[in-house]
Amino acid sequence: MSLFSLPGSSSSSSHPLVPYGWDADWEAEFASYDSEGLLAGRVIRVDRGQCDVVTSGGVLRADTAFVTPHDPMRVVCTGDWVAVEPAGDPRYVRTYLPRRSAFVRSTSSKRSEGQILAANVDHAVVAVSLAVELDLGRVERFLALAWESGAQPVVVLTKADLVPDATTLSYLVQDVETAAPGVPVLSVSSSLGEGLDVLAAVLSGGTSVLLGQSGAGKSTLANALLGEDVMKVHATRDVDGKGRHTTTTRNLLALPGGGVLIDTPGLRGVGLWDAETGVNQVFSEIEALAAECRFHDCAHTSEPGCAVIAALDTGELPERRLDSYRKLLRENQRIVAKTDARLRAEIRRDWKRKGAEGKAAMEAKRGQWG
Ligand code: ZN
Repeated sequence: MSLFSLPGSSSSSSHPLVPYGWDADWEAEFASYDSEGLLAGRVIRVDRGQCDVVTSGGVLRADTAFVTPHDPMRVVCTGDWVAVEPAGDPRYVRTYLPRRSAFVRSTSSKRSEGQILAANVDHAVVAVSLAVELDLGRVERFLALAWESGAQPVVVLTKADLVPDATTLSYLVQDVETAAPGVPVLSVSSSLGEGLDVLAAVLSGGTSVLLGQSGAGKSTLANALLGEDVMKVHATRDVDGKGRHTTTTRNLLALPGGGVLIDTPGLRGVGLWDAETGVNQVFSEIEALAAECRFHDCAHTSEPGCAVIAALDTGELPERRLDSYRKLLRENQRIVAKTDARLRAEIRRDWKRKGAEGKAAMEAKRGQWG
């Protein structure tokens, strides 16, 4: 049974999961599970071996024991599309569909491991407060993370009403634009309701997350986009698999103007995680300059024919940008080095185990033949 007829047809918009991001591509990915009689759903919350899944029949709770490998990057997370058993106590999540994008963070400075925070995110909204002095380095850091996830970053300058005049505001927007090539920069005032319609339109076509420092106005922004108090919306009454009414905290919410917002506690205060691609995208103009350097392995310090130094000299490239680029690359390399050490240790363990298994198998065979 197909839940969709044609992509973009009127029947597709009537599918109950469309407000949660269901589309023709997800339907195609799900087809084989559909024929097995499994239910399609999107994870709106995960919680100690269980998750809440919104399905066409409502929200149900499912066990994730089948999909909890030891790799923390491969556990089910908010935003995943999953195939759930239609019945059972408990009912199990059978699998999750391949992710289009994923937000991860390093869990601690000592144990370098990634932790997945949200999956299948299209827009990463980096909220930046205009109530305090702009910290462009911080903006660049969030942008690296956003690019790395596979989502399209959008910078939203909040509390625009605190900026004294329009000229100052346009300068601030321009400043952020120089730190964010290829990224739309919007300004909003939640208290005045200004700029929210533009943002809502940008976010209407996909799933979004809100990133940014505490105090950047993320909660206010979420409230404004949802048109009501987020805490109230988060705690909605749902019917669980046994027909009981339960109160569920939702970390994934359908926006009234279209689109989906993921707001998980873990997404606040994310760090950089193996984001070299992301860093290079944030500093794409430096990457372009570096391609013009005379030497392929130019370190842009004192080499002859260095296009990066030439751009610093003319003022085309602000010194702050180059410093920030180097700082983020160094930080990223430290994280990668730690991950590599962990991976190497894991591979060694794996080989030892395989070696032992191989030896046992050979001995068993010899035993048969002997
Ligand atoms: Zn150079």
